Amino acid sequence: MEKRQPIRMCIFCRDRQAKGSLMRLVFNQGLVLGDHRQTLPGRGAYVCSACRKRLFSQKGRKVLARAFRLSPEAIKDIRA
Ligand SMILES: [Zn+2]
Repeated sequence: MEKRQPIRMCIFCRDRQAKGSLMRLVFNQGLVLGDHRQTLPGRGAYVCSACRKRLFSQKGRKVLARAFRLSPEAIKDIRA
């Protein structure tokens, strides 16, 4: 049996997966950053591998803003 992992939800498709198979994103000083080592502090949002490319669309920015409870203008750049 695989070790039990916490479950998180993809902010795009709302699919629930083990935390380790999703990419964690954090918001820091205007930037949305991919937390590849899962160590950055702050509120995290999760995206599955299938939805990763959607981050960079106009819609993606809105979804991210909602996930981080920001206005879309607060997001200056996405570096995931
Ligand atoms: Zn997804």
